[in-house]
Amino acid sequence: MVKVLDGKALAARYTDQLRGLTSALSRPPGLAVVLVGEDPASQVYVRRKGQVAEKLGFVHRQIDLPASASEAEILAVVDQLNGDSTIDGILVQLPLPKHVSTIRVMDRIAPEKDADGFTAVSSGKLSQGRPETIACTPLGVMKLLEESGVKLDGLDAVVIGRSNIVGRPMAQLLEQANCTVTVAHSRSRNIEAVVRRSEVVVAAVGRPEFVRGEWIREGAVVIDVGMNRLADGRLVGDVEYEPAAQRASAITPVPGGVGPMTIAMLMNNTYEAAVRRQG
Ligand code: NAP
Repeated sequence: MVKVLDGKALAARYTDQLRGLTSALSRPPGLAVVLVGEDPASQVYVRRKGQVAEKLGFVHRQIDLPASASEAEILAVVDQLNGDSTIDGILVQLPLPKHVSTIRVMDRIAPEKDADGFTAVSSGKLSQGRPETIACTPLGVMKLLEESGVKLDGLDAVVIGRSNIVGRPMAQLLEQANCTVTVAHSRSRNIEAVVRRSEVVVAAVGRPEFVRGEWIREGAVVIDVGMNRLADGRLVGDVEYEPAAQRASAITPVPGGVGPMTIAMLMNNTYEAAVRRQG
């Protein structure tokens, strides 16, 4: 019988715990979210993050900039937040408009306020195996794997996708948990064969039902990071859920799997930044 990894319930447990911890701080953690433009998906994510932050009693600030905002204007907002003592965590919602360098904006965020874990300092520390702030989605996936009860040590894992925000840090975390990790991407040959032999499958591709259910090895743990909106309005993951669930020992649903954990880990990172900054 497959175990459905309920990210919504697990995220609620984490945020309940955080609410208790937050009340013991001398001042509430502060989270600032910068939204550039009016991408509908980004608006939904940002709203949800704000709601959770407020429920936790965090100070929450949202800064909306038009899609036409210049890189210099965005950097000026980041500079101002870096210097704001009430703000512990800064998040610039991605994707940014094409005329703006994501790397330059990420690198402007003070590493000690890097709630998303996307700065070069945070990724560098993770890649050296001494993580400080870990990117929220891969961190949430690690918590879901813990929840699955699987012992990762020595397992064959595949991560499909190698983005800086999901696939690459995910592969590093699995390798640091002693998995043997294959990273697949758009130039990989025969991903099916790699998935068929993998005991842990993390799909972060951004293509609806890219991983066929029949590829899943009997008893594998399957984590579906993908969130794809179909023309009929349905939200589906990167894995063909029903047939995969018949073969897997544990699987995340979409929605209600990785998504809520990403937000919970953002709160966790902001809380930890506040604790560090308060000494
Ligand atoms: P991304 O930056 O577009 O990266 C996608 C990765 O998939 C790239 O490494 C790309 O390879 C690879 N890829 C694309 N087509 C492929 C193919 N046909 N075969 C094999 N690999 C292929 O996306 P992302 O930001 O990592 O996000 C991935 C997915 O996760 C999206 O659906 C996104 O919406 C979702 N997401 C969910 C959450 C959450 O909280 N649930 C958070 C973040 C992202 P190349 O490197 O070769 O181009």
